Amino acid sequence: MSNPIYLDNAATTQMSDAVKEAMEPYLMENFGNASTMYSYGERAKEAMEHAREIIAHTLEAKPSEIYFTSGGSESDNWAIKGIAGEYKKKGRHIITSCIEHHAVLNSCGYLEKLGYSVTYLGVDAYGMVSPKEAEAAIRPETTLLTIMFGNNEVGTLEPIRQLGRIARGNGVLFHTDAVQAYGQLPISVQQEPVDLLSASAHKFHGPKGVGFLYLREGVKIPSFIHGGGQERGKRGGTENIPAIVGMGRAAELAAERLRMRLRREAMLRNYMIEKILHEIPESRLNGHPNKRLPGNISVSFRGVDGASLLILLEEDGICASGGSACNTGESRISYVIEALGIPEDYAAGTVRLTLSRNTTRAEVDATVASLKRNVARLKEI
Ligand SMILES: *Cc1c(COP(=O)(O)O)cnc(C)c1O
Repeated sequence: MSNPIYLDNAATTQMSDAVKEAMEPYLMENFGNASTMYSYGERAKEAMEHAREIIAHTLEAKPSEIYFTSGGSESDNWAIKGIAGEYKKKGRHIITSCIEHHAVLNSCGYLEKLGYSVTYLGVDAYGMVSPKEAEAAIRPETTLLTIMFGNNEVGTLEPIRQLGRIARGNGVLFHTDAVQAYGQLPISVQQEPVDLLSASAHKFHGPKGVGFLYLREGVKIPSFIHGGGQERGKRGGTENIPAIVGMGRAAELAAERLRMRLRREAMLRNYMIEKILHEIPESRLNGHPNKRLPGNISVSFRGVDGASLLILLEEDGICASGGSACNTGESRISYVIEALGIPEDYAAGTVRLTLSRNTTRAEVDATVASLKRNVARLKEI
């Protein structure tokens, strides 16, 4: 069998050669600790600050607003628990949506155990949060609104600008989990009224185990790890320099010709969606038809078991997923698919195909052919 066709880029992406090359010197020769004074340490510190500048630049933020973390989950945990703790004198109410990633949902659930109250906004049939409902949920004791930029399962882009304006107009801080969007779409914190933003390197062809939190100047947050003075005293512990350098390089590459790549990827995505809906009877697209992540396709096939379909796809060398990677192993229908109210006879037959900048038209064609054959096979059983 030839190379696998990898269509699970929402779960993780392949690190690019250029990223690996940027990291290599910091794995071996330049092993210095960024907190020491001699030249080894200086070199590590300079490389780390260079990565911070690159990332800040991509967001039109200041380098001092970027904090390195171990990834998207940590950034979400820090943002939510941190703001909830820092501003608890004002109140103990948070607003989120019911289709967030578990890093957000479980952080909110933890706060509920501590006595906070959380409003979980529902979504429409496309998976979109209503800004009106968000505004209506705000109370005098609300401190934080946290809504994802783009959904990892169904791809829908949330109305971030409107939500941010509502939060700001009501004295509420706004956090967005942009793990699926950063590096795929241009995002500017000058344009978007977000106060905190989470991102993760392995979702944009960087290494695993590293990410960042953007924190708007003036917004207070307690330290996430108490220790040394790293990350301006907010996150103690010797920094993972090779990973941070790799993330900086990946962010730089993701920003290059971003608008052109975005268009190309969205066109290939649309081509694939149309081909599936046209060639496979009783198929439907989940999520918004055009306000969606450039690489995301979530489709459901009526009367087909999604898990069996994934196994047959794998036999054809195609990697796809059911809901999010975090839900594999559980056979029940994903909470996101449930929240969209997708008809039951379709919901169980849901697969997610996520493209990357490396996906080719030939791979798309081969995948649709495999889907077509295998959906028909499963319907015969
Ligand atoms: C992958 C993902 C995360 C978790 O990021 P990690 O770096 O793997 O911890 C959080 N939110 C969303 C939307 C994701 O897709």
